[in-house]
Amino acid sequence: MAWEAVREAALQADAGKSLSTALAGQLTSLTGALCGQLFLWDDYRRVAPHFATFGTGKCEADVEELEATLVAQALSSEQPLRRYPNQHSAGPTESTPVVALALPLHFSSRPVGAIVLHFTPPRPIEGEEERSCQGVAGLLALALAREIAEDAQQRRAEELEALRRASLSLTSKLESGDVLEVMLKSTLDLIPASDAHIFLYDGERLTFGAARWAGQQQKEPHSQPREDGLTYSVARSGKQVVIPETRLNALFHGQDWDGAIIGMPLRVGQRVMGVMNVAFDRPHRFNDDELRILGLLADQAAVALENAERYRQVERRLAELSALQQVAGVVSRNLETQALLREVVHQIRGVLGYPVVEVYLVEGEELVQRSALEVQGRDSLRLPMDRGIVGRVARSDQAAFVPNVGEDPDYVEGRPGSRSEIAVPLRKGGVVIGVLNVETADLLGLTEADLRLLTLIADQLSVAIENAALYERLRQHRDELEEAVEQRTSELAEALQRAEQASRIKTQFVNDVSHELRTPLSNMRLYVDLLETGKPERRADYLKTLDRETERLIQLIEDMLTISRMDAGTVAFEPQLVDMNPLAEALLEDRRKLMEERGLRVDFRPVKNLPLVRCDNAMLTQSIANLLTNAMLYTQAGGEVHMATELSVEDGVQWVKLSVADTGLGVREEERGQLFERFFRGSASRSAGTPGTGLGLSIARDVLERHGGRITYRARDQGGSEFAVWLPPAARG
Ligand code: ADP
Repeated sequence: MAWEAVREAALQADAGKSLSTALAGQLTSLTGALCGQLFLWDDYRRVAPHFATFGTGKCEADVEELEATLVAQALSSEQPLRRYPNQHSAGPTESTPVVALALPLHFSSRPVGAIVLHFTPPRPIEGEEERSCQGVAGLLALALAREIAEDAQQRRAEELEALRRASLSLTSKLESGDVLEVMLKSTLDLIPASDAHIFLYDGERLTFGAARWAGQQQKEPHSQPREDGLTYSVARSGKQVVIPETRLNALFHGQDWDGAIIGMPLRVGQRVMGVMNVAFDRPHRFNDDELRILGLLADQAAVALENAERYRQVERRLAELSALQQVAGVVSRNLETQALLREVVHQIRGVLGYPVVEVYLVEGEELVQRSALEVQGRDSLRLPMDRGIVGRVARSDQAAFVPNVGEDPDYVEGRPGSRSEIAVPLRKGGVVIGVLNVETADLLGLTEADLRLLTLIADQLSVAIENAALYERLRQHRDELEEAVEQRTSELAEALQRAEQASRIKTQFVNDVSHELRTPLSNMRLYVDLLETGKPERRADYLKTLDRETERLIQLIEDMLTISRMDAGTVAFEPQLVDMNPLAEALLEDRRKLMEERGLRVDFRPVKNLPLVRCDNAMLTQSIANLLTNAMLYTQAGGEVHMATELSVEDGVQWVKLSVADTGLGVREEERGQLFERFFRGSASRSAGTPGTGLGLSIARDVLERHGGRITYRARDQGGSEFAVWLPPAARG
């Protein structure tokens, strides 16, 4: 039977069936058993649970009962074991029919399993047949041992491949987030757990790293690590903790969870970088393979994490260097404080990625925000110096490094969501002039490295602000200088213009003078000639004319002398208090007879209580006399000349005013602009044919202006002219 079974099994195994299955099947069919049940040895639990059933009949045996009794005994005795029908009472013999025969399977003295053959109806089994069955069972044990070994090898090869892939993937990642993700995925691919978590450890605190369950990456952990829980215990001890049944473990006491969990430290040398927890939602005995795989993965991941951290540090260092370089660039480019601050803040934020960067400058007892990107366009924020972390830095001249603002008693919530803050003083000549402030939304989001970097930047910024202030002063100074130079230049230009004007006037004056002198002189020469050559009876007329021309010449020279003396500033003014009323009256009386002879009616209306004026009596007299002479000369017979005084108020200012009005020829509108210019003689003088110099009014204007007064002309509505002299009352002047 044995050889037949072996040959048949070998043929079946050739056809693709496993040798153990073929042998078990052959043993069942050749012994005529209803069915054969194969039990496989579990070395870890030291039991042999049911594995497979062979044969054509339906087998109703209770496998757990068999495992506990027949199988267990056969394995421990290492002998075949028979089971007899229940009604059998007397001691069995070799020919007693059996219902079941259990054959232990051993290989190299180690249990592999057992096969139980069931007989219905029961039949006796000869010693010969039993030995033959034992022979086949021996081969079955060998085949099983080999297949188990092959399976284990195959599984290990698969695990190794999976590990190799995980390891390749882990070491190729430079971001810690990617490392964690790959690690969790590889773990759950290799181990049929329900979820896996990684928490990162900084030597003190655990922070969430990554989580995976339900076939995907999760954003939040199932729950945060408890201070006295499994994760902290693994992180602090650096040792793995395996809990096959959480219900029975003190760490999970009081928790409604009946599962299994393993906490693996992620270690590089002595340093624990994090903890990976792998959990099952039912009790689970972690076998050696699983522990080995988890250990390998954890080691790989720890190295990859460390690399990622190094990479991050290098990147950070690069960012810092680049920030410093950029800030240096900004600092050397910008000489205007506001633009400088704005750009520095922009650079720090851009290169280092802090969400909040602000610069405050001290103004009196306040700190004024000068460059926050957040509040652009709003009124600048002002903080009192005695409040907040920024205020403390300004007062104490000490940088503040606050990893958790919630723990700082001085923190005043300004920006919702800020968790970490660094504030560094800006100084000028040893005095705090401001504060550079940086905030992030992550708890512990800022480190000592940030503090060092910001301190460096603050130093640069301080120098830059000082430069900008110097530049500002320099520019102001330059502007002032420019303004002064401009003013002086325009003064010079004016002076030059005045000088040129003066020179033009002088030339004009000389021309005019020569012209004016020539007329009376040529007349005089003519009449002197006539005295010699003309009719003797007309000599008297010639002499009269000569006399008149001489008079005119004298008058002209008199006037010119007055003018040139006034121009040269050599006229001696002798100011005295003068009452205009008697002065005017005397002048009129002197001329009344002459005027009346020329057919003019004259009157004088003085105002009472006229204030005195302070002036040079002779000069004022000369000016008023000129006005009276003109009125007389330029008014036809039958006309009138009125003289009056009054106290006039203009724009709230008092003036002593004397007017001389006539009903004469008047001054043409187009001539009025030149009326007071030197040598101007208008159409009136021509039509009246009167002698004159054209200097009288211009002298009067100069005289009055020198006394703080003025002279004006007004055309009278009813025809004729009105000239008026205005002088300040003596008390006012
Ligand atoms: P003169 O009388 O010697 O010509 P003035 O300087 O006194 O010089 O006067 C300048 C000119 O003003 C006169 O030539 C005349 O044309 C005009 N003028 C002065 N007073 C009167 C007046 N009362 N009525 C009309 N024209 C006048």
